[in-house]
Amino acid sequence: MSQRFEGRTALVTGAASGIGRASARRFHAEGASVVIADVQEDAGAAVVDELGDRAVFVRTDVSDESSVAAAVDAAVATFGRLDVLYANAGVMGALGPISKLRAEDIESTIAINLRGAIYSMKHAVRVMQPRGSGVILATASPAGLVGGVGPHVYSATKAGIIGLCQSVAAEIRPYGLRANAIVPGSILSQMTADISTGQVKDLDAASVALKDSDLLDRNGLPEDIAAAAAFLASDDAQFVTGSTFNVDAGYTHAPGDSP
Ligand code: NAD
Repeated sequence: MSQRFEGRTALVTGAASGIGRASARRFHAEGASVVIADVQEDAGAAVVDELGDRAVFVRTDVSDESSVAAAVDAAVATFGRLDVLYANAGVMGALGPISKLRAEDIESTIAINLRGAIYSMKHAVRVMQPRGSGVILATASPAGLVGGVGPHVYSATKAGIIGLCQSVAAEIRPYGLRANAIVPGSILSQMTADISTGQVKDLDAASVALKDSDLLDRNGLPEDIAAAAAFLASDDAQFVTGSTFNVDAGYTHAPGDSP
């Protein structure tokens, strides 16, 4: 494996599981030191045990700004610098028809998926900008681009992630920093397993999104997203910023067969 991140540090939120864990593994395999930032302590510690050196777990609740700030500071204190932020933590959150959504579920979904990404970017840029380099990534969703494939608040937060990345990309470009949103299709992870095994109820709309696995006759895997994240975070993507990068087997923009 190439060593595109040798001497660099990546902080990944939601890295105890799924897409975040696969991305942390990929950054690490390509030479990065990694900060596993997640609310799940045992699972996060297990990722660090697996990776061995150049990895730390920092318990982080992205909905709490002081927690995010501490994780960013821990990255710098432990490894001397922060080169990559992957703001990936997210939850499906509030479910059901718009007329039945509960205020506390709306708030908690926005707090984790959107405010969490804003806090993460705020504090990453705080330490990246003075160094004049750094890459921000965040996980959006097809639900942020088209209707009917995800719960309402989830969709709104993922559309928000795309707007946030574009807006931040414009601000940070003069300082040598980049920001891009990744749009995963249906990826096998705890989130989709919860849906498909029925642990999450009342989610007909989101289960439609799982059908994009049919487009390539295989499931999308966290490693598919990790490979894209590694590209976007690397110097190979120096000319890529403000983009919305689909990794979805064509589900969002090319879902049908050829005529
Ligand atoms: P996952 O459930 O496996 O991982 C999500 C991780 O986020 C978990 O480790 C969880 O502990 C962590 N997390 C939740 N709340 C947190 C908080 N407050 N602070 C810190 N960490 C928190 O699911 P995944 O599929 O790997 O999801 C990762 C991201 O990808 C999410 O943003 C999700 O919306 C997005 N996404 C997933 C799919 C898919 O099909 N799996 C598709 C599109 C987008």
